[in-house]
Amino acid sequence: MDEFELIRRYFDRKPAAAGVEIGIGDDGAVLAPHPEKHQVQVIDTLVEGVHFPADTNPADIAYRAVAVNLSDIAAMGASPRWMTLALTLNNASETWVEAFASGLFEAADAHDLALVGGDTTSGPVVTVTVNITGELEKGSALLRSGGRVGDTIFVTGTLGDASAGLALLQKNEPNAFLVQRFLRPTARIATGKQLLRKASAAIDISDGLLGDLRKLLSASKVGGEIDIEKLPLSDALCERFGDAERQRFALTGGDDYELCFTGSRDAVRGIAGITAIGTVTASPRLVCRLHNEIVQVDDSGYRHFR
Ligand code: ADP
Ligand code: MG
Repeated sequence: MDEFELIRRYFDRKPAAAGVEIGIGDDGAVLAPHPEKHQVQVIDTLVEGVHFPADTNPADIAYRAVAVNLSDIAAMGASPRWMTLALTLNNASETWVEAFASGLFEAADAHDLALVGGDTTSGPVVTVTVNITGELEKGSALLRSGGRVGDTIFVTGTLGDASAGLALLQKNEPNAFLVQRFLRPTARIATGKQLLRKASAAIDISDGLLGDLRKLLSASKVGGEIDIEKLPLSDALCERFGDAERQRFALTGGDDYELCFTGSRDAVRGIAGITAIGTVTASPRLVCRLHNEIVQVDDSGYRHFR
């Protein structure tokens, strides 16, 4: 089957979605953005062997490629609309492509996100680049830079599951829930939209809570304090790992794709699925406390300060 037939069969779905004047099939997509809104553009690449193990199910690869981009859209408070896909295949079978397309559309359809174009090439390893265009009310984008001293620091969902799931996958001791949290992250689109004009700053957690929170705090020119015992942890993580390990996953493990944001408790009251974990401070540092004592955390875990 040639490339054109492959695209037509698995990626070109009719009828075209809202705002798509010309979708897949021409030299470029023609889109009708909302004249009253701002656009948000995000792009992320997943490379076999770097971002996912080589034997990952193609439906999971595609789902994850869409979800990590949706997570950036969520962190801006935007609504996803259109997506393009650059796909590098390494001798893929038709079954592989069919499974890939099913995972792609499973992730996209949940958010009315339309695939409007892409590029297909062959290369040494599977490489998936997804670009998503989102929209939001002009001037309302949730930025990293809006955090203010005295704000509360919040996160969505539970932390550490994805990195624990990946570690278990690599040791060949999979735990269904934790592995799913790695392979099929939940992009917090609904929460991101609820946070518009309520949160002061937001970021999505792709590299681990500490690293990403530091980015938010530094963009906001503030510091912060978090309480390690307040971190929301799943039952599955707690059942499988002891205190030190679960805290290390939650603090420094990547791939959670939860949101971390700042704001006043009053402003975000009533928003479901969020947990307060700390406070924005004037000091330029990020301080972690465990049972009220300051601890230092590095990639191997935490140790008591001095
Ligand atoms: P060109 O040679 O003009 O760049 P292509 O042959 O690469 O065009 O693509 C033909 C059409 O198929 C274009 O509309 C392109 O956007 C679409 N397309 C190619 N690969 C993909 C893909 N992986 N997913 C979605 N659309 C794709
Ligand atoms: Mg092309």
